Amino acid sequence: MARIVMKFGGTSMAGTERIRRVAGIVKRQQEAGHEVAVVVSAMAGETDRLVNFCREANALYDPAEYDVVVSSGEQVTSGLLALTLQSMGCKARSWLGWQAPIKTDDAHAKARIEDIDPEGVLASMASGEIAVFPGFQGVSPDGRVTTLGRGGSDTSAVAVAAAIGADRCDIYTDVDGVYTTDPRIVAKAQKLPLVTYEEMLELASVGSKVLQTRSVSLAMKENVRVQVLSSFIDENAPSADDLPGTMIVSDEELEESDMERQLITGIAADKNEAKVTLTRVPDRPGAVASIFTPLAEANINVDMIIQNVAKEKGETDVTFTAPMADLARTLAMLEERKEQIGFYRLISNDSVAKISVVGVGMRSHAGVAATMFKTLADRGINIQAITTSEIKVSVLIDADETELAVRVLHSAYGLDAKG
Ligand code: ASP
Ligand code: MG
Repeated sequence: MARIVMKFGGTSMAGTERIRRVAGIVKRQQEAGHEVAVVVSAMAGETDRLVNFCREANALYDPAEYDVVVSSGEQVTSGLLALTLQSMGCKARSWLGWQAPIKTDDAHAKARIEDIDPEGVLASMASGEIAVFPGFQGVSPDGRVTTLGRGGSDTSAVAVAAAIGADRCDIYTDVDGVYTTDPRIVAKAQKLPLVTYEEMLELASVGSKVLQTRSVSLAMKENVRVQVLSSFIDENAPSADDLPGTMIVSDEELEESDMERQLITGIAADKNEAKVTLTRVPDRPGAVASIFTPLAEANINVDMIIQNVAKEKGETDVTFTAPMADLARTLAMLEERKEQIGFYRLISNDSVAKISVVGVGMRSHAGVAATMFKTLADRGINIQAITTSEIKVSVLIDADETELAVRVLHSAYGLDAKG
């Protein structure tokens, strides 16, 4: 017997018909002899609808009341799933955020889980009852409902798994695993049986939208084994216990598996960043600080940064990338400080893409970056900026060349499926 957390996303919960399928999958896991807890999202589109109601009601909405409204989507689906399980002869009950309780801080609309008291839930599960949690919600120190930020149900699932000491947290979604790259771009992309927490974190932060980034950090911290798999399976599909999806595991578990792996694990493309250049910035201590400090204070997340070597005149160009959504704000802030920073021109480009190759294998191998640069050069693709971490190399290129770049890199690193 194992203790399993199963999490179902909004597409899987969209309507009573689909909830019945989900209940069938849950029931089968219980019949396989496991203790089961389930974490559910709201029906697809429901949270967006509720957010809009808040905006219409009051453009400057109070985050505490926003949480009352948007947490309701998950309350509905958790109750419906418990009802459906009961109709199939299972014992089941819902555990709202304040009931478990799932204790969070009081940062409404982006709360962090602090503690989950597992006793009541564990006793109920031990008696054969299926525990159904609405994802995304918790309770603040003063007893008000909180939500965890968009996509937060993944984080709820991992937190519940950690609290009840689950053997595995299965995330059922509309893809059947994590791929070497987006299969819509590269038909020969392959499903990965295993990825490490760090690889998943890097992939999530550069545009692979399979899991909320925070849920991956939490899984890494708490050592929760997470499987990503499809909820759109038929009766004859292999059981979740046979690990048909992608397992997210520690470096050690990866090594022990002696799974044959390529040097590079995955390639991601992110078109959500824009490039900003300030020309002829004075080359003196404090110049770059005067650019980036105000952006940091405004919570603008700068990613790639390049500063050229100063020319003879003691001036240098500074280029960086920031989220597209923050571009207008960024430009306005810099323009306001033109005198103080002392730059000559401010140039922006929102038609860029960041292409990243990720893999723990590059820790122990030279030449990964060189292969990337050469492969892109052979196709005449110009690199505008570069950043690296221990397990990732990212380059900034023209957005029009995204698909081509991902395809040629996927082949160059030997990731194409055979046949
Ligand atoms: N329903 C919430 C959202 O759409 C949380 C989630 O589904 O993960 O963001
Ligand atoms: Mg999601």
